[in-house]
Amino acid sequence: MMRYQRQVLMNQIGENGQNILKQSKVVVIGAGGLASPVLTYLTCAGVGTITLVDYDTISESNLNRQFLYGEKEVGKSKVEVAEEVLSRINSTITIHQVSEKLEENNIMEIIKGSDVVIDCVDNVETRLIVNRGCLQMDIPLVEGGVNGFYGFIIAIKREYACLQCVRYGDTVLKRPSPALGAVVGVIGSLQAVECIKILLGLEGVLYGRMLNYDGLSASFETVEIQKNHMCQAHSII
Ligand SMILES: [Zn+2]
Repeated sequence: MMRYQRQVLMNQIGENGQNILKQSKVVVIGAGGLASPVLTYLTCAGVGTITLVDYDTISESNLNRQFLYGEKEVGKSKVEVAEEVLSRINSTITIHQVSEKLEENNIMEIIKGSDVVIDCVDNVETRLIVNRGCLQMDIPLVEGGVNGFYGFIIAIKREYACLQCVRYGDTVLKRPSPALGAVVGVIGSLQAVECIKILLGLEGVLYGRMLNYDGLSASFETVEIQKNHMCQAHSII
């Protein structure tokens, strides 16, 4: 327990909470920029089982934000290198690799049995598939995204607004989207915090609220978002 001494000291965690984290299963979709802090902090915190989902290989243009990888790993599989790095940080946790493209027809199998899903992808199509899959399976989802100096995060479950409730994806974004590594780090770290709060059953999770971060003005703003009765993702539950 020495490894977790500083977090076990927290009233919200303690030895009991640490055991809960150890028993927890989290699926992280995407092993890129947001996933770098997400995976690192969940691994450090002792989340017992982490599934990494990504079919991509490391490219040089990833390196400004995907700090799990270095120059020597360009061309290698992201999930393989990520597993290696994370096991070096904490050999007591279990890491599963899924090197498949996430689609409508495999999402259920991949997220089945998990306590939380964290979405760390950079495209609208996959986000909406993950959003629908988590609502259908009734698994809490932590979403986050970055555009330049701006980032957002939101927690989703059946009783609250989802990405489709707010018509996410209706605006066409620039591809590839611009991203400053440090901003990606802020948002990914926030996703890890929300995930740990959900696992521990703590209050104050960002359900029904979107947290916006503007790095240029150095400000955070939380906006309440309502469930939309016309939402197609919610209507299929
Ligand atoms: Zn919805």
